[in-house]
Amino acid sequence: MFQKILIANRGEIALRVIRACREMGIASVAVHSTADSDAMHVRMADEAICIGPPPSAQSYLHVPAIISACEISGADAIHPGYGFLSENAAFVQVVEDHGITFIGPSSEHIRLMGDKITAKETMKALGVPCVPGSDGGVPDLETASRVAEEIGFPVIVKATAGGGGRGMKLARSAEDLETAFRTARSEAKAAFGNDEVYLEKYLGAPRHIEIQVFGDGQGNAVHLGERDCSLQRRHQKVFEEAPSPAIDPETRARIGQTCAEAVARIGYRGAGTIEFLYENGEFYFIEMNTRLQVEHPVTEAIFGVDLVREQIRVAAKKPLSFAQDDLLINGHAIEVRINAERLPNFTPCPGTVATYHAPGGLGVRMDSALYSGYRIPPFYDSLIAKLIVHGRDRPEALARLNRALGELIIDGVDSSVPLFRALLEEPDVLKGDYTIHWLEHFLAQALES
Ligand code: ADP
Repeated sequence: MFQKILIANRGEIALRVIRACREMGIASVAVHSTADSDAMHVRMADEAICIGPPPSAQSYLHVPAIISACEISGADAIHPGYGFLSENAAFVQVVEDHGITFIGPSSEHIRLMGDKITAKETMKALGVPCVPGSDGGVPDLETASRVAEEIGFPVIVKATAGGGGRGMKLARSAEDLETAFRTARSEAKAAFGNDEVYLEKYLGAPRHIEIQVFGDGQGNAVHLGERDCSLQRRHQKVFEEAPSPAIDPETRARIGQTCAEAVARIGYRGAGTIEFLYENGEFYFIEMNTRLQVEHPVTEAIFGVDLVREQIRVAAKKPLSFAQDDLLINGHAIEVRINAERLPNFTPCPGTVATYHAPGGLGVRMDSALYSGYRIPPFYDSLIAKLIVHGRDRPEALARLNRALGELIIDGVDSSVPLFRALLEEPDVLKGDYTIHWLEHFLAQALES
């Protein structure tokens, strides 16, 4: 087993990994920018190393600084968390070349799935159902028009290198296509330095269902059911739950098995998430994330497993600590992502948290790096806390979420908490009756009234 793990991340996810390390008796090394000198992950790790100035490009994304921190501290493995370098195949290659273990899949698998076109081709070949669309990249408007006519409008133009909902444009009809095609390409070029795009049929009323998989890198893999992340704003998840109110046990077993077999066949190592849109009883693959997801705690809650511990074990070449038959669902879990932002426009609003009080009690988990007096730096993501609740069933989880939100105090900065309180008043949310477009409609109506 590893002696010391460096965590190439910040915020709540860095704490999450430090906690797993401590329970496993492994020393932890935090890295931080000068803006994060007072951050909780710096205080909680066994050691901390400053790796550069506030901008991510010069600190959390700066590969030479991270490798140096590893060598100085003598860490034998790196956990990347999510975001930052977690899906950067070139980084993983450098880590491996330095004889350091990357806690995650191989650089080849990251590269394969990081390009959405090769990911889709691979999944299709492995028998995973995909959204109808172009076979590979679409080089020009002429080809785009031809493909769109074939699959039928509306279509969505998506960046091959896309992520975070960027580089994605909807064309409802032939008239919209030119604008959608050009803006998707220029957005993709600006955000990812790669303007390759492809076309997909736009699904009108799907849910976002994702399957958690885990491989040991030796050809064995299991699935841990699904998460329903349909409540989204600008293609970004805000409220996630497991199991999905729309999936029955037979459907779960079928799609779960398909996914587990697919990753087993490629010899995948570690945690992965296969994302689907789900409409009229059919699954359509959209992408695979080769890392831990922000919303992994809902899966941990219902299966009673520690996914970070498992990532570390598998990276150390230990076998999976559970077999498929051991994985039984217990109850229902919900996560809400609390951001430092001002409603109704969701404007990021960093600032100083005067008072912070976390909710507690049975079935409540708060993953956050906040403390009273903490100054939220303006340089990074606006996620400040994840509140996860677990109950025996969905109604109990919803009641617990409401109760926990009532106990939570974050004074001094605005947050998205009022949104969650409002959602818990909505009959559709209480019934679990929503698609990926539900939240946008709800917000548009709320703005009007
Ligand atoms: P990203 O990597 O940027 O997150 P994804 O491919 O995962 O992009 O898509 C993000 C979200 O965009 C999905 O959860 C869904 O809400 C929406 N979306 C993506 N593809 C389609 C599609 N073909 N039809 C309708 N909505 C889509």
